[in-house]
Amino acid sequence: MTAGHGPPVLETIARARSIWDEHGGAIMSQPGIPEHVDELRAAIRSNRALMKRLQVVRCCSRCASEKPGGGCCGATIENWYDHYILVMNLMLGAEIPDERINEESCIFLGPTGCRLMARFHFCINYLCQDIKNSLSQRQLEELCASNGHEIYRGWLLENMLREYLASRANH
Ligand code: SF4
Ligand code: SF4
Repeated sequence: MTAGHGPPVLETIARARSIWDEHGGAIMSQPGIPEHVDELRAAIRSNRALMKRLQVVRCCSRCASEKPGGGCCGATIENWYDHYILVMNLMLGAEIPDERINEESCIFLGPTGCRLMARFHFCINYLCQDIKNSLSQRQLEELCASNGHEIYRGWLLENMLREYLASRANH
């Protein structure tokens, strides 16, 4: 998951869908991939549950629905997303949104927060000062460890996906 300014996000979404249409069945039948998808799903769910328990979800949902530009989810961030992480969303059974709810916001932002399952490490790790101020040191450390685990599981799956697609070339 490398940051950069790639093609406009709608092109990246179309590329991910086309890869999934052509290779989705084969990708999911590679040895080890379904298990890694399950591990990533479990890491995402556990991280979201922790964020909910720590009230981070409530604060971010308020931003997503009330602040112009969706708080920290501004429109430029969508262009850091590459087709690999979007294919990973399809592997997880998530839909990729392709209509933005607000001109100034990231295309993946929904009325109550991010609509992606697999996310770029910046999006997983970012906590604004208000959120940091609302958490104790122990809670912050717990959240950082949980974020790190989600990023690690995503990195493992992304490597497997990249390896498979490289073996098929032109992706
Ligand atoms: S991290 Fe902070 S700025 Fe970003 S959506 Fe959450 S509350 Fe808003
Ligand atoms: S991908 Fe999700 S978390 Fe990241 S900026 Fe877009 S809406 Fe926000």
